[in-house]
Amino acid sequence: MTGDQYLLLPGPTPIPERIIRAMGKSLINHRGPEFRELLLEVTEGVKQVYQTNQNLLIYPSSGSGGLEAAVVNFISPGDKVLAISIGAFGDRFATIAEKFGARVEKMNFPWGQAADAQAIKTRLDEDKNGEIKAVLITHNETSTGVFNDIKSIRELTANHPALFIVDAVSSLAALELKMDEWNLDVVVSGSQKAFMIPPGLSFLAFSDRALTVHQHSTNCRFYWDVTQGLKYLEKGQTHFTPPISLYYGLREAVNMMQEEGLEKIVLRHRQYRDMVRSSVKAMGLKLVAADESASTAVTSVYVPESIGANQLRQYLYEHMNIIIAGGQQQMDDVIIRIGHLGYVRNLDLLAVLAALEMGLLKMGYELEMGVGVKKAQEYLLQKLPDNLERR
Ligand SMILES: *Cc1c(COP(=O)(O)O)cnc(C)c1O
Repeated sequence: MTGDQYLLLPGPTPIPERIIRAMGKSLINHRGPEFRELLLEVTEGVKQVYQTNQNLLIYPSSGSGGLEAAVVNFISPGDKVLAISIGAFGDRFATIAEKFGARVEKMNFPWGQAADAQAIKTRLDEDKNGEIKAVLITHNETSTGVFNDIKSIRELTANHPALFIVDAVSSLAALELKMDEWNLDVVVSGSQKAFMIPPGLSFLAFSDRALTVHQHSTNCRFYWDVTQGLKYLEKGQTHFTPPISLYYGLREAVNMMQEEGLEKIVLRHRQYRDMVRSSVKAMGLKLVAADESASTAVTSVYVPESIGANQLRQYLYEHMNIIIAGGQQQMDDVIIRIGHLGYVRNLDLLAVLAALEMGLLKMGYELEMGVGVKKAQEYLLQKLPDNLERR
């Protein structure tokens, strides 16, 4: 961790020193040649993270702004939309579409489970006249720590013409995502999760097919209008004042990701997940997600009712300056969520697992001290003999 706290939220996430320093530079003219170069460089860099050669715009906003941008640019009032939800963020995407006039059909799956690909296929197959114009789906459901198998779902539904729109705010650069190869139409992400920079930027990537739909779409928009965005991008500008300091941070983040390589980044996150899950299991706690759909970005854990998830979090914060997330909505005070995405270091996770054991013991939970930590140590020694120090 670079700050005073052990920040293990699924966003915002810790910021590396390199990025903090990069953001401290003096500002430049946002309509001048230096910004032009910066904008083109980060746009190209973020496209590489998406693995796309199509269109990408960067907005000054949180991730939710990016979701709204996806709705107002590619969905028209009256359009029928199939919104797949496995938790709080799936619900949010559906709500945004509803607010902007879409006729939303919700497809809900129980919190803690991934979406059933076959059920989605069946529903789209029934839509013989192509009435459904868009499918909204969350890649990594941050509220539960479950990910949807976007690649398979997309493959299964490939013959339906609806735009396939993905909320990848907490997954891009933490889980594998290949926008072009997987044939995704619109993919939204943001800065404060796996990108290692502060909140304040969202990314909207869209296919050429989506751009054609946009050109005939009738929703209200100004700030989010991708026609304006693309027109200005051609000049190396944005159609609003960009948060230049965040762009400096983004350039450094993209450099760091290129140095490490996408495959290694994805593997590293998988290792965080496996280490945390094996450790928590050894403590005798129950995990929310099944192994096959467990997120590599965040791990959700049930806390025994007698202890209370929020009381445990409070203890970790007050006594050890450790910040982990609680549950949202019906999961409030039921689960804790340990974020492990972006700039995470193995030994920080080890510290948090040790603290978790101490907290549990203090609150009367029966546990042999060290069982969970030992599992994590064994995992690290076995999997990561060489790079323990670096991260
Ligand atoms: C964090 C997050 C968002 C956006 O949240 P903001 O607070 O608006 O940045 C959207 N979807 C998912 C899956 C997220 O994890």
